[in-house]
Amino acid sequence: MDYKKLANLLFPEINKDINYYFEKYPKRKLEKNAQVTRIAPSPTGFLHLGTAYGALIDFLVAKKSNGVFYMRLEDTDQKREIENAGQIAYDMLCYYGITPNEGYAGNNKQVGDYGNYIQSQRIEIYKTFAKHLVEIGRAFPCFCEKSENIEDILNRRSEQLEKTENIETKDPCRNLTYEQIEENIKLGKPFALRLLSKGNANNTFEFDDLIKGKRILRENDKDIVLLKSNGIPPYSLAHLVDDTLMGTTLVVRGEEWYSSLPAHLELFDAFGFPRLNYAHTPVICKLDEQGNKRKLSKRKDIEADVRYYIEKGYPKQSVVEYLLNLLNSDFEDWRLKNPTLNYFDFEFDISKIGSNNPMFDILKLEDISKNIISYYPAQQIYDEVCNWTKQYDKNFYKILTNNKEKCLELFSIDRINTPKPRKDIAKWSDIKNLYNYVFNELYENKNFNNFEFDDKITNENKIAVLKAYLPLYSENDDKQIWFDKIKSICEPLGFCSDMKTFRKSPENFLGSVADISGIIRIALTGRKNTPDLYFISKLLGQAEVLKRINECINLLSNKSS
Ligand code: GLU
Repeated sequence: MDYKKLANLLFPEINKDINYYFEKYPKRKLEKNAQVTRIAPSPTGFLHLGTAYGALIDFLVAKKSNGVFYMRLEDTDQKREIENAGQIAYDMLCYYGITPNEGYAGNNKQVGDYGNYIQSQRIEIYKTFAKHLVEIGRAFPCFCEKSENIEDILNRRSEQLEKTENIETKDPCRNLTYEQIEENIKLGKPFALRLLSKGNANNTFEFDDLIKGKRILRENDKDIVLLKSNGIPPYSLAHLVDDTLMGTTLVVRGEEWYSSLPAHLELFDAFGFPRLNYAHTPVICKLDEQGNKRKLSKRKDIEADVRYYIEKGYPKQSVVEYLLNLLNSDFEDWRLKNPTLNYFDFEFDISKIGSNNPMFDILKLEDISKNIISYYPAQQIYDEVCNWTKQYDKNFYKILTNNKEKCLELFSIDRINTPKPRKDIAKWSDIKNLYNYVFNELYENKNFNNFEFDDKITNENKIAVLKAYLPLYSENDDKQIWFDKIKSICEPLGFCSDMKTFRKSPENFLGSVADISGIIRIALTGRKNTPDLYFISKLLGQAEVLKRINECINLLSNKSS
């Protein structure tokens, strides 16, 4: 067959050749070993946590090697297109600091010399490459109806990849003669373009995936679709063209693409282009209510959308470090040893990403976040909580800004200059509930039923403690004097002021000095656990301390009577 003639028959409108594009997009001039990575989301209207996870790999690999991390919009699947979706994905990446340094940049902007970075605007380029493949005898038109769906069906069979399958994969249209094709074209029949596969699924080859390691794969034998009948390429051709022209060196993509890898490799070979390196990322899973493991799903799980973490008020650093923790399990140790370093300083290693699907665990995220926030200076906590409440809790925002000095003091207690900083805040939305007692405006409406008093000590004795403490409290006392005063009420009331003595024979006492502090703490805050009581009392101020103790005495008296 005269393939050149066939190519012109199929693509009369295409008058450029692939060399035109290779000249237009020359090889990047980068340092040796510099990696070019990309995030190529399909615009779905939100950024999946799994996409952020992949993008983080791209970002770190490029950064570590002084390379390039660019963003491309894979928007050719019009069924799924949602307005503004590219913008949302870009904004979310930037929000989390996983900022591409080239490519699609939101607000109708693109940065870099390898654009256009929006696939729907590159159709002519894809067709040029498709035409080239026809010219070299490696692609043919397929006139079967709905032929473009076959690849989708094949792709879905991901798990079956490494099994022998006896399915008919060679398309019958590959045997059409030039005359038959010409006839169809004359009749105006639409065609899809398919790869003329030369693979044999009985043959295997070894492939070294940067995450999955070396595996034996079967050759592709499917005549995969390269252009759908509407002239739009599916992923296989589009990614080959884009990643080749844009100079990608490493493709980091979801594991769901692994099953199509042999087809993609055959396509690179058919063009005679160098193959790229691939890293197929495991899929983030979670346990559902029945205890079954399943993919974190955008339809079922609100946590799949990275906006969820913004709305809940998790610092971006916490989300990124949680992902890093899923990627490299030694990150956690490194963070413990280096609590204040930037995570960029961590020696991220793509080969240490396990190939097992990581389990999403919100409690782990909370722990990581508590740890991170515990090292934030008070001013940063204040700024961030203000920032968050300004959008998500306007009332509390007002309270915070009316009490700036108080907040700064509050966020300093047990945090600065202490070997074990307080780890109680996981997200900005925790603060209101955790520290409501600090703000009189919030505390006015307290519910005494929620006071965490226990029954170890009788109400009469609690009242006695509070009554004894009331005349002693002075906000001007230093910490030692304040504590000495608390101790001084122990013995007269039958409590033990010395913890060692108490531990030896607790039966001789109503309780210890710790119980006394506990009673005062709950009277002042309603809570068993708060930062250092001395500082909390000072923050409340003399009048408020006395008022709250009196209120509590009344409350307990009413309860006992
Ligand atoms: N658009 C593809 C996706 O969203 C990109 C895959 C890739 O990164 O190559 O899955």
